[in-house]
This record gives sequence, structure tokens and C-alpha cells, in this order.
Amino acid sequence: MTIGLETRLREVLDKKSVEKLGEELDLDTIGDLLGHYPFRYIGQGERPDLGRLAIGEEVTVFAEVRAAVARKYQPKRPGKKARRAERLEVVIADEDGRTLTLVYFNQPWLKEHLTAGKQGLFVGKVGQFNGRLQLNSPQHFLVDEWNVTSGLLPVYPGTAELPSWKIMKAVHTVLGLVPGLADPLPREIRSRLGLLGYGEALRRIHRPETHEVLGAAKKRLKWQEALVLQTVLVRRKAESLAEAATPYPAGGAILDAFDARLPFDLTAGQRRVGAEIAAEIAQPHPMHRLLQGDVGSGKTLVALRAMLQVVAHGGQAALLAPTEVLAAQHHRSIAEMLGDLANGGQLGAPPEATQVVLLTGSATAAQRRPVLDAVRTGAAGIVIGTHALLYDGVDFADLGLAVVDEQHRFGVEQRDALRAKAQRPPHTLVMTATPIPRTVAMTVYGDLETSRLTELPAGRTPIATHVVPYTDQRWMQRTWARLREEVAAGRQAYVVCPRVGDDQKNDDDLGGADGDKRPPLAVTDVIEQLRGGPLQGLRLGLLHGRLDADEKDRVMRAYAAGEIDVLVATTVIEVGVNVPNATAMVVLDAERFGISQLHQLRGRVGRGAHPGLCLLVSEAAEGSSSRERLDAVASTTDGFALAELDLEQRREGDVLGAAQSGVKSHVKLLSLLKDADIIEEARAEAAALIGADPDLRGEPAFAALVDDLAADRGEFLEKG
Ligand code: ADP
Ligand code: MG
Repeated sequence: MTIGLETRLREVLDKKSVEKLGEELDLDTIGDLLGHYPFRYIGQGERPDLGRLAIGEEVTVFAEVRAAVARKYQPKRPGKKARRAERLEVVIADEDGRTLTLVYFNQPWLKEHLTAGKQGLFVGKVGQFNGRLQLNSPQHFLVDEWNVTSGLLPVYPGTAELPSWKIMKAVHTVLGLVPGLADPLPREIRSRLGLLGYGEALRRIHRPETHEVLGAAKKRLKWQEALVLQTVLVRRKAESLAEAATPYPAGGAILDAFDARLPFDLTAGQRRVGAEIAAEIAQPHPMHRLLQGDVGSGKTLVALRAMLQVVAHGGQAALLAPTEVLAAQHHRSIAEMLGDLANGGQLGAPPEATQVVLLTGSATAAQRRPVLDAVRTGAAGIVIGTHALLYDGVDFADLGLAVVDEQHRFGVEQRDALRAKAQRPPHTLVMTATPIPRTVAMTVYGDLETSRLTELPAGRTPIATHVVPYTDQRWMQRTWARLREEVAAGRQAYVVCPRVGDDQKNDDDLGGADGDKRPPLAVTDVIEQLRGGPLQGLRLGLLHGRLDADEKDRVMRAYAAGEIDVLVATTVIEVGVNVPNATAMVVLDAERFGISQLHQLRGRVGRGAHPGLCLLVSEAAEGSSSRERLDAVASTTDGFALAELDLEQRREGDVLGAAQSGVKSHVKLLSLLKDADIIEEARAEAAALIGADPDLRGEPAFAALVDDLAADRGEFLEKG
């Protein structure tokens, strides 16, 4: 039998280990096991000692057995027949002579095993007995049994049933069986970059002698991950460049008419990005572009102009929005901006006019019918909707451009479903207000070109943001007084809370009560308190995700029409809601929101000519990390700076969300944030590889890895 990465563990390990590895960690092949990397290493001089043990903590300590004493005792078991039991007490000591007692019950054989002088790792939870700290039945791993007398001791992510040392034992056995492994990395790249061989790198990541060697092993394995990933993306981009799409030449009657009546000048950024997009959709290949721009930077206008270019030449454009509120708002504001250019088919409309229709899940069958007809016949040039657009039965006459707003709420399947509604791949424009660092964008949205709008339209006054301590009565009174002043001046305001209320869990809730903290404030409670107290006499409206679509729409319309003074809402307003007369926002329990989320939220105010004010109310103590985050939000309006800060503070998995979960089996060591340099270099190498050998015929082993990842692509790439 030749043993390789595909060999099943059951061919080489004992049955019990194989079962545990499969059940606990889903590891079935040698490749699975060798790809289960240690998450920590314990060096000779840095072995965790007994100096800092906290009760309840799960610890791994390195120590030497001093003594082991077995004690017989009579367990107290009321109602049961007493049976003699044995307790083994083992005293261990670390290098500094600190000691700790381990206690094992009824495992007499351990006496032979844990003898004085043995060194090893002990893994368990710190408990207390008679006022002294102890480890109760810890897992143990003795150095002399596995010949790890030098170098770093690996610690594996494991489970109670399958502790680190058992994984180490299995890895050790397997490593001994795979002497040479074929190297999937192209030889030229490997030698030019001075990377370790594959087998060598695997061996060393599991059994490193020094941190230096470990670094080299990790570097090599990260390079492999990065190169495979980037090659998938580069190849896909090359494929899409080869696809045919309908070209829509720049300009055209309805776009020119629209531009002529635009009441303001485009910003320089809108002009630049607009020209890029116009040139791309004039090509006979599909555009795939990501448009990033801070809230209020005017992305929608850029998208609308692209849609009009398509409509001008007989195509249709779809705008996919993440929520009904947002879809309805887009529909309203686009129809408004177009004026009679949206009256296509009506008497007296300009000849270049089209129809703009809205399609959401809450529409009744009777409401849908004329809309679906207009979409099918092509009478509707612009079709706006939620994912109801993706349903069967929505047939486009000729979908030429798909615009996806706020991409992070959509998965790749949905984007693909929309694309599938066109005869040929449509041009695609994805808009997001969430700033994404370059390397993340490059990986998660790998086949998209990126454009950024970095300035806000002229005439915007920046939002002033302040942190308000919740416990300070005077400050709170002042907060509500400020809101009343805005309303008295004819403007409107938002009050945002982290929770809907009652006890059901909702989409727009930001996590419930944890531990003994009080539950986050809920809109349904807060609105009552405000109504009866500080905001008495004002017209208050309530908006959250649990209202039905009609009600949401009614409230949003009333607010937009100025019939509501203060909207008490959850994060449903986070995305794209545009009411220029709203000038003030109070965020309650502000520390419950993420940095980028707060930035996104406050983007809802100060969208008109009047200065915006955002008050972040929080109980977070001065100097606490929560408070520091709020201070950071108050100190700058630069969305990209805040996004970077946000990323620094969150775990990468949270940042990438769903994108990361699918990528996990392929990208284990590579950090999209910290390994930016490797990713950039790998991108260039991948481009060169594919350029020279598009089908990777010369590198079959590497091609196999690339195909493997590409086959899983729907699970992660572009999903945000
Ligand atoms: P985003 O979608 O990027 O958050 P929007 O496209 O909704 O931003 O634009 C926000 C507001 O700014 C809208 O009312 C829009 O009409 C207006 N706007 C867009 N571009 C300009 C511009 N160049 N000058 C003035 N106002 C603009
Ligand atoms: Mg928007």
C-alpha cells in the first residue's frame, strides 16, 4: 500500500483512535489529520507554569511528577451499598518548584504511569478542594513516551474526549509513515521564494525544533493556501473576461436627458467611477465591479446613471436591495430623480422615458401581475426589488445590468440567481458602504474590480458625534432637549436601540442579555418611556424588523413625509435609509453596536444641508475598551479608518462572517488581514502562472488543489 494524504486513517491507526478522530473532529484521512494544525506551541523556556492559575480556567501546564499516593476511602453514597474506592493524588511541580495536586479517581493503573521524575503536560480545569487548588482528572501527556524531549510541544485544538495529547500521538504515528510527499507547489516558485518542501513543512508545523523553523513551515503552508486561492480567482476572472455580454455604448437619450436636469454637479469621484463603469458596460464582456463608498457618498446616483446607459440602448437594469424598506425607498427616490423620465408609456411622457417598477415579497398577486408583465415585456427599464426579484416567474425581457446594493447581506447564490435571469451574463455592479481592506476585498470579492468614492458631495456638513454617559442625569436631559430643539426647528430625529423587545429573538436584535448584565434596551419599551417622558407631545414612530412589510413601508413613508418627528428604531435603518431632513440621532446602549455599524447608522443624519448630530449614549465606563471604541467613532468621520480599527478589534472570523466559514478547510493559516503581503505577492504569481499556462497543464498536482477549491467556491467566495 502506498501511503499518501488520501489514505484513510483506518488503514494506519488503531480502531479506537480512528473513531475518536472521526467523531470528534471529522478527520478521516491522513491529509485531514496533518491539516489539523496545532494552535499553540510550548517552548522549553516558556512552558506554562503553575504561577497563575485561576479557578474554573482550563489550563495546560508543564511540570514534573514529584509523588503519587493512592488512598483508599469510603465514598458517601446515601442509599447505595458502600464500596471501597481509590483516589490517586499526584503532586506535580514546575521549574520554579511551585506545586499542584492532581486527583484521579479509581484509575489504579495510573500509579505505575505517573511516577516521580516523569515530565509532561497536564491539561484540565482548575478546581478547589479544602481551600487548595487542584486539577481533577486532568489529561496528561508524558514527554518520554513520545520522544519529544527537545523542541516545541504542539498543542492541538481538541475536545474533552479527544485531548491534545491523543491528537499529538496520532499525528506522530502518521508522520512516521509518510516519508516523502509530492509537492503540489510549482517547483520554480518554490525555489525562487526559498520555501520549504511540502512534507518538510508538514513535519515541522507538527514537530518544530525552534520557532524559526516553525515560522518557515508556516510561511510555506500559507503560501500554498494563498497561491491556490488566488489562482482560483485569477482563473475565474480570466474566464469571465472570455464570456460574451451585451455591450451598451456610453451615453444615450435617457441618460443625457437625466444628466441635463440633474440639479447638482457630480463629485469628481462620481465622474471618475462613472466613466470607468460606462466604459466597461460598453464592452462585449461582462463587468464585475465593486463600488465602495461611505454612506452618503452618492453611490446610488452612480448606479442609476449606469442603469440609464443600459436602458438607453434597449436593455433592462435590476436593482437588488437587502430589505423591503430600502427597496421601497430606492424606488421612490429613483422615480423622483427621474421625474417624467419614469413615465414611460404614459401620455405626454418624453420619448426616451422608461418605467420604474418595484417588486417585493409582500406584494399581492394582483399587485404583482402588472409589474411582472412590465418586466417580461421590457416596458420596465428599471426593476427594483428585494430577493423577490429572484423568484421563479420573474422573467426579464433583456436584463443587461444587475446592481446589488449593500452586498454584505447577500450570498453569492442570490447574485448568481439574478444573473441566471439574463440570456447572457449581465454586467454586475455591487455597491457596499462597508469599507473593506484591499486584501480582504481581493479575496472575498476576488473577481471584482474595485472602485471607491472617497469624498462626500459638496454642501454636506460633517456630523458631530458625542459620547453621553447614561448615568449622568444632566447629560441625558440635555440629550433629549437637543432632540426637541431639532424638532422645534422643523427637523427630524432617530432614536436607535439594540433590541426590538418582548422575548422573541429577532433579526435586528444585537445579542441578548449575557450573564448578569441587564438586557439591551428595546424599542418597544423605549418608545413608551419617551412618549410619557422626555419626548412628550412629539410625534413618535416605531420601526423594527418584526413589523410586517406594509407597516414598515407606511412608517417610512410617514417619516419621509415629515409626519413623524422622531423615529424610534432598531438597526433596520442602518442600511441606506435616506431622509435628508433628519438631523439628529441618539443611539442608546451604543456600546452594543460595532464600530462600523455606528458609523453606518450615523450616516442616516446630516444628509441634507443642515448639520448632523449623533449622540452615543452608553453606560461604558471611561477608559474601558467599549468606551474607547465609542470615543473613536466620535473622533473621526473617516469610514475607512474606522473599518480598519474595527478589524483590529474583531476576530478575523467575525470580520469575514460566512465567507470565512466555507474557506476554513482551505485557508487555515493564512490571515487575510495580517498576511496581506503574501496575498499580494501570491496574486501576482497566480496571474503569471495562469498567463503562461491557463489550464495549468504543467502543474497537475497544483491544478488538482485549485480545482478542489474552485469546486467549493459557492460556499465562500464573494459571500459577504
Ligand atoms: P449612498 O448610497 O452612497 O449612501 P446616495 O446615493 O443615497 O448615497 O446619496 C445620498 C444623497 O446625496 C442623495 O440624496 C443624493 O441625491 C445626493 N447626492 C448624490 N450625489 C450628489 C452630488 N454630486 N451632489 C449633491 N448631492 C448628491
Ligand atoms: Mg445607499
